[in-house]
Amino acid sequence: MEISFTRLRVYRECPWKYQLQFVAGWRIPLTPAGSLGLSLHRALECFHRKDNPSGDDLFACYESRWLSAGYADDGAREAWRKKGRRILERYLADERERRTVIEAVEREFVFPLGRHEVRGMIDRIDRHPDGRLEVMDYKTYSSGDELGKRDNLQLRFYGLGCREALAKTPDMLTLYYVAEGKKVTMEYDPAGEAELQKLIQENADRIESGRFPPDTTFCPRCDFRSRCAYSVAKD
Ligand code: SF4
Repeated sequence: MEISFTRLRVYRECPWKYQLQFVAGWRIPLTPAGSLGLSLHRALECFHRKDNPSGDDLFACYESRWLSAGYADDGAREAWRKKGRRILERYLADERERRTVIEAVEREFVFPLGRHEVRGMIDRIDRHPDGRLEVMDYKTYSSGDELGKRDNLQLRFYGLGCREALAKTPDMLTLYYVAEGKKVTMEYDPAGEAELQKLIQENADRIESGRFPPDTTFCPRCDFRSRCAYSVAKD
């Protein structure tokens, strides 16, 4: 089977949630924060694919890649659109200081692991002046957000994908909180690869064999808590 970081994360949150989302096809409603995050990712990809882009190019990319779904009404949509523009204005300040060369944006990787296939998409890969390679993942929420607790595993997953599929061994793995201009960086540790591969493979094996027991410890944070039959957090 094919496993991405999102599938791995959802399965580890609650196997039954995986079944609902990826087997039964339950949809997670798009929130304003999620929609803006997609618009920003798309704008940054468009911007960095241009040759010597200007600040105006960034805002033109933002407008052309803007996703209008996920907002309650026009007023909310406009307020979030302005918020996105402020984030990009701040991002441009970082761009003026950047000394790295961007080697890739939105780079897909695929590699075999046992009988499974591991797939992912790296937001950005930078080369530093001293030759070090940095794998970067954009985050559009705050660095203090609860969501951040799961991100180190995601970075390690992408670091492994970079080395396995792209034949580039990263030196650094970075979460780039674009709304704050904050980067949280960890060194890439090849010694942890075997453990990570084992984790991915074991979970892929369980998914493939159809093992989807509910794990109700995740219910209070689950998108399906109000309609899932096993939920202990219906509100
Ligand atoms: S509500 Fe609880 S049991 Fe149901 S899918 Fe979500 S986490 Fe799993």
